[in-house]
Amino acid sequence: MEPIFAYMERYDYENLFLCQDKALDFKAIIAIHDTTLGPATGGCRMWQYDSEMDAIEDALRLARGMTYKYAAAGVNLGGGKTVIIGDPKRKDREPIFRALGKFINRLGGKYITGEDVGTTLKDMEYIRMETEHVVTLPTYLGGAGDIAPMTAFGVIRAMQACCKRVYGSDRIKGKTVTVQGLGAVGHNVVEQLSGLGANMVVADIDHQKVEAMVENYGVDKVDTEAIYDVDCDIFCPCALGAIVSDETLARLKCTIICGSANNQLKEERHGELLEQKGMVYAPDYIANAGGTIYDTDRLGIGGVSHERGKEKVSRIYQNMERVFEIADRDKISTYLAADRMAEERIREIAEVKKYRDDLKP
Ligand code: NAD
Repeated sequence: MEPIFAYMERYDYENLFLCQDKALDFKAIIAIHDTTLGPATGGCRMWQYDSEMDAIEDALRLARGMTYKYAAAGVNLGGGKTVIIGDPKRKDREPIFRALGKFINRLGGKYITGEDVGTTLKDMEYIRMETEHVVTLPTYLGGAGDIAPMTAFGVIRAMQACCKRVYGSDRIKGKTVTVQGLGAVGHNVVEQLSGLGANMVVADIDHQKVEAMVENYGVDKVDTEAIYDVDCDIFCPCALGAIVSDETLARLKCTIICGSANNQLKEERHGELLEQKGMVYAPDYIANAGGTIYDTDRLGIGGVSHERGKEKVSRIYQNMERVFEIADRDKISTYLAADRMAEERIREIAEVKKYRDDLKP
């Protein structure tokens, strides 16, 4: 990684906080990218990194990703992220997460944390003991609870917008969808697509999950490697990142790629390459924003409303339409159009925010 300030200048980061407590063996990094739209928000990841610089780079990179995700989703939040350096299986959770809660509280609402890789809802409860600036809470603490069904719903709304573009109709009925990964999101995608009349072919490394889907929804199954060779309308990756590569693009026989997995393009050029092959790509952070839209909906409004949250997630359809408009307008790929949509919104709202309500001398 280049020197930290050079990196922060290049992508216009606001803050980077290093938090430590020797007695607790606690080290965390809080990165705040951009608060133009609202408080920086993003989950807390716990991971063992090869070096401190790797951890810092990860926190910075992920925080910037959240800025784009919220901006493109039409949510009034900025981008931030926490990284705790440590074994995610560490047992002494309460002191660590309460210590983090103390640090976050000192930021006075500039940053709001949540669950991410290596952390759980229980960890969020510990943070909540020290600060109110945490989302992703169980329902009994005023949170939205399990958000995976809403992530799945958002993926399907993006899929419908892609179908409209490709086939002229957003009907899912009769379409063949391959679903890679049947975890928290994937199994909800299968359940909801089944209700819409899709034909499905699924794969997971966990055979029990596959058999459950076959039994409950009558889907077809293939081996994990064979999923790329299935003749289908839509490939829905809900497991791994970097699955759109030279190798898979040579095999995939779909027209649409739309799923929940993060960082689906192995390299950016694969976003161009798939379009040259006549495929339509729903940028991952547009399609998989449903859970986070639903989760954060209660902030600033007061209380969870399933109806309101679901309605906001449903708008992922319109977000995808806007991505296509920008792609057509600027003659660029959809993954670049998504970034442009986010950047345009931040620029416009920064302009609006110049108008101060308080005109006292
Ligand atoms: P999960 O861990 O619950 O499920 C992942 C599933 O993929 C597991 O069932 C696993 O066995 C399977 N899998 C792993 N390797 C595989 C392979 N090679 N082939 C087929 N299946 C394989 O995770 P999740 O919460 O369902 O998330 C899935 C993806 O969506 C991840 O990339 C995640 O970052 C992303 N995502 C999730 C959410 C959410 O709300 N959970 C939100 C946004 C993005």
